[in-house]
Amino acid sequence: MQCITENKLYLLRRSQCEHCGHQLNWYELIPIFSYLFLRGKCSLCKKQIPLKHFIVECIFGGVFVLVIHNTTNHLLVIHLLMISFILPLSIYDIEHYQIPNKILIIMMVCLCIVIYSQYFYVFPFYNQEPFFQFSSTIAFMKISIILLLHLFYFLTKSIGYGDIKLLSILSVGLDPAFFIAMFLMMYIVGGLCAIIFLCYKSEIKKIPFVPFIFAGYILVVLLYDEIHIIFLGGFY
Ligand SMILES: [Zn+2]
Repeated sequence: MQCITENKLYLLRRSQCEHCGHQLNWYELIPIFSYLFLRGKCSLCKKQIPLKHFIVECIFGGVFVLVIHNTTNHLLVIHLLMISFILPLSIYDIEHYQIPNKILIIMMVCLCIVIYSQYFYVFPFYNQEPFFQFSSTIAFMKISIILLLHLFYFLTKSIGYGDIKLLSILSVGLDPAFFIAMFLMMYIVGGLCAIIFLCYKSEIKKIPFVPFIFAGYILVVLLYDEIHIIFLGGFY
């Protein structure tokens, strides 16, 4: 993500050590295991690789296992795609308090490809009920959600416009009921964290918002049926 935002041609070159520029071998690219195997150091310059890389790889692995375990097959591709973007964006948001537009554009393009390929049955593993239906009611709901998000932003200015853009992309790809449940969960988790935070510090200046979107997303993936019955009455 750093490479994309810093304008490096990362897609055209191989991964390398950030310190000495040593080009990584295939066995140094295996998530989690390569870190353990190399004991957290570059094989050439022996510079310590930040522990956060290892932690992020573990979280990624754990989340993927959870999602695969809790999702029906026809939703799996869309959930894995969304999470592959929201998790790195959460970390970027915590570190920089912003969401890079380039990542959002790549996310939107990937989403369009998945929706297109699923709708036209490009891949055989999609051969089940489609997760994305082009009904006018759903389209109307999605457009309404995007307009309401923008209205919410212009009236309250309580969250950044980057968050609104990310939420708008999510609302395009997700079922409206899922999106509404995620939005509710996001605010419940965010509110609880703000209360806990306020107990330790007297004021909050700025809070990264994407981690709460991520938390809300995972909660809804895990507890969709329960949330659906409690907040939406099981209807819709
Ligand atoms: Zn190195």
